Amino acid sequence: MVQIDFYGGVDEIGGNKVRVSSDNDSFFFDFGKSFNKEGDYFSEFLQPRKLNGIMDLVEFGMLPKIKGIYREDYLRHSGIPHCPDPAVQGILISHAHIDHMGYLHHIRDDIPFYMTRESFLITRALETTGAPGFNNYTHYKTDFLLIEKKPTKKSPTTHKRASSRDTLKPRDIEIIEPYKDFALGDFTITPAPVDHSLPGSCAFLAQKDHDRIVYTGDFRFHGKREHETWKFVKEARKFSPDILITEGTRIDSTKNVLETDIQEKVTKLALSHGGLIIVNYPIRDLDRFYTFYHAAKASDRTLVVNTKQAFLLNEFYGMGYPCIDEVAVYVPRRSWGLRGGDSYVCMDGEWLCSRDLAEEYVQADYRGWEKDFISWDNNVTYHDLQERPQDYIFQCDIFEFKELIDIKPENAIYIKSKTEPFNEEMELDVRREMNWLDHFDIQVHTGYHASGHACGQEILDMIREIQPGSVYPIHTEHRELFEVLKEDGIRVLDPGKV
Ligand SMILES: [Zn+2]
Ligand SMILES: [Zn+2]
Repeated sequence: MVQIDFYGGVDEIGGNKVRVSSDNDSFFFDFGKSFNKEGDYFSEFLQPRKLNGIMDLVEFGMLPKIKGIYREDYLRHSGIPHCPDPAVQGILISHAHIDHMGYLHHIRDDIPFYMTRESFLITRALETTGAPGFNNYTHYKTDFLLIEKKPTKKSPTTHKRASSRDTLKPRDIEIIEPYKDFALGDFTITPAPVDHSLPGSCAFLAQKDHDRIVYTGDFRFHGKREHETWKFVKEARKFSPDILITEGTRIDSTKNVLETDIQEKVTKLALSHGGLIIVNYPIRDLDRFYTFYHAAKASDRTLVVNTKQAFLLNEFYGMGYPCIDEVAVYVPRRSWGLRGGDSYVCMDGEWLCSRDLAEEYVQADYRGWEKDFISWDNNVTYHDLQERPQDYIFQCDIFEFKELIDIKPENAIYIKSKTEPFNEEMELDVRREMNWLDHFDIQVHTGYHASGHACGQEILDMIREIQPGSVYPIHTEHRELFEVLKEDGIRVLDPGKV
């Protein structure tokens, strides 16, 4: 008999952690972070502490108390016994959104992760270009480790704290292929690609003897890869599952905005406007990137992306997306702010303009991965956007608004192409965002977002088509709207309080 336990994603959007167990084996569908739960207790300036391992998150129920899944260094550091054998055979990642994989950092290194190549590339980009923190997603760094060193007169101890260079190693990650079955203990797993708002999303069909379970992950029917979602529905119906675990983010919505609608609207706007167009869209949504890329082309402008998006495009090189040199890459000022000119540094008692300095001095402003993206022919700085605003569509997220101080835009417009705020922190961000835009007298355009999720009727029709014995609605705040399925003889199950 197969058992299913929900440790997140119940009556909330995201934070999915679904454990499936047989008598001998066990695995998780996703291991995501719940933004709402974390936001109830933590904020940008009130973060969980690494010094307490997993316990700051366990304290408030963000990480479930389960033996045999967490990393040994964190457990032992807190004086908690470590089980020699892992309690699950693997974690299946449906896609690389944080609410589905954001807590992988805390998982022990002998539990393999299964994900598509695209999910792997996005996850690795998140790890490389994101702020440091709990982000050992594709690599694992052992913490709280003292390693041997040579004693010296000044430092007579025999050991030193290990740095990430000493202990960093790749995690055990299996790249999965569409409809290529693989075994996970007693279970046979089939990955089924679906369309969502980032590449590489997939649903899973899991079978053990007569038990058949389908997990949708996040999906939609109105994106560029809708055919994939349709194929999944067809295969899931053939699979004839007892249980369907489905997302229901937009079960209360009735209509969809399409990427093509956005592209058309943006193109029109870009053709009729003479100044800079600033856009804010989710950088991992490469469909949205495409939308703005094409709108820029159609309006004789160049799309300017940030270095994080440039990194991602480079990762996806050769996988059917525009290449990094088909866009412009914005080089922000960092450290001393020498790129772009007009800053002064003192050398041998003389103050020199950064324009006159050797490139090496300027490049010292940049560190790590970003250094690779600041010496391309297609780099632009705030000067370029200032001098020829009508030539560009400039991607700029809230955390990059500082650039506006340098650009000093005149007659600019701002296209907000993101989801509406759904928690207090996001509402605060919006207030700040509007203050900045007001300050620079930038006109705001909203309504340029296409959701990554299917609407209510599509979700219900999909479930009726698949005809499972029972359905567990998760990743939704409106579980009650699934009750209508009872009329079709489908049982609607309660995933339970977490
Ligand atoms: Zn999600
Ligand atoms: Zn998602």
